[in-house]
Amino acid sequence: MRRKIVAGNWKMNNDLSATQALLTELKKQLPDTQAEVMVAPTFVNLFPAFEAARTSKIQVVAQNMHFAESGAYTGEVSAEMLGSIGIEAVILGHSERRAYFGEDDALLAKKVDTALSHEMEIIFCFGEELDDRKSGNHFNIVESQLKNALFHLAPDAWDFIVLAYEPVWAIGTGETASPEQAQEMHEFIRKTIASKYGQEIADRVSILYGGSVKPNNAQEIFSKPDVDGGLIGGASLKAEDFTAIIKSI
Ligand code: PEP
Repeated sequence: MRRKIVAGNWKMNNDLSATQALLTELKKQLPDTQAEVMVAPTFVNLFPAFEAARTSKIQVVAQNMHFAESGAYTGEVSAEMLGSIGIEAVILGHSERRAYFGEDDALLAKKVDTALSHEMEIIFCFGEELDDRKSGNHFNIVESQLKNALFHLAPDAWDFIVLAYEPVWAIGTGETASPEQAQEMHEFIRKTIASKYGQEIADRVSILYGGSVKPNNAQEIFSKPDVDGGLIGGASLKAEDFTAIIKSI
């Protein structure tokens, strides 16, 4: 059975005490759920968050990492460093990394390889911009993002991949893809994976939706057959909203 996952991307929000307070609140309010729950604090708060989450089912994951093993990359963080503090999963390819830090498919392919060589699970984000959607080019964009960054992988690498389809026009805008738009794209993504790796692998990979998921729209989006959960930005910063979203899966 495919894993159900709700992951919160906290981005560059919350200092140490806010991070600890949010985790304390989340642990208190966390519903009984089959879904896996992940949160991604900023680098400096990863270890305290990891410690705070230790006694719960919340998994703490990283928002990013560098592709190199180590060396002269000022300001960067390696897979090995993440692993050394207990972090076993990383978000790669978030649209903000692509847009503001110039991360392209080729660079992401290198990061994917490095993460895999450390047996790190990857939440791989991708999705089209508004112009692509308007011009009807969204399927081509999504297909090329997948192929360029992931289709060099061996089949067994897919055990470590979770996909997060995040249409850029829906991130932080309050404008969500309709449940039908999400389902249509997730089905397309699964077909694209099946065409390269076969139906069994395609059926096993969890595909999360991200983009303005809130307590009032989560249930309808999550009810679609190819939507296996969500990557949540803004709403994951409030324990009440995040737990309401978790409850709706
Ligand atoms: C995100 O940044 O991955 C995201 C989905 O943000 P939001 O939920 O705020 O749109």
